Amino acid sequence: MTDFVIISAVAAQMLQHVDSEPDREVCGLLGGRDDQALVAVAIPNVAPTPQVRYEMDRQAMVEAVMRLRRDGMDVVGVYHSHPHDPPTPSITDIAEATWPDVVYVIIGREKGQQVMRGWSLRRGQAVEVNLHDEWGLPS
Ligand SMILES: [Zn+2]
Repeated sequence: MTDFVIISAVAAQMLQHVDSEPDREVCGLLGGRDDQALVAVAIPNVAPTPQVRYEMDRQAMVEAVMRLRRDGMDVVGVYHSHPHDPPTPSITDIAEATWPDVVYVIIGREKGQQVMRGWSLRRGQAVEVNLHDEWGLPS
């Protein structure tokens, strides 16, 4: 997969979540179908050092997955933020990427700007995925 659609309302929801915690990483799941993210579900970050790591609360994650399935959706993406760093996957992000076939969306900072990028993380490799909205505009 080289292209991934995040509908604009979902991108806005993620950015709002990121902005609500400017000094901590936030995380969540993207639910949808095929290569389209239709909903964002915020999951509490329970990492002991949330300034630089994220770890999704297990219970909240399981409940979110069940709710998505009930609504006829799958987990198509995982998102998290890098409060002060570029939206490129860290060594830990790559090592701990355990969801197969999802797009890892990272919202980070580049030259003072908030930037969102998508990645396929598999077998220790990070490959960038093009993110765009429902009108084909870059996210
Ligand atoms: Zn990260």
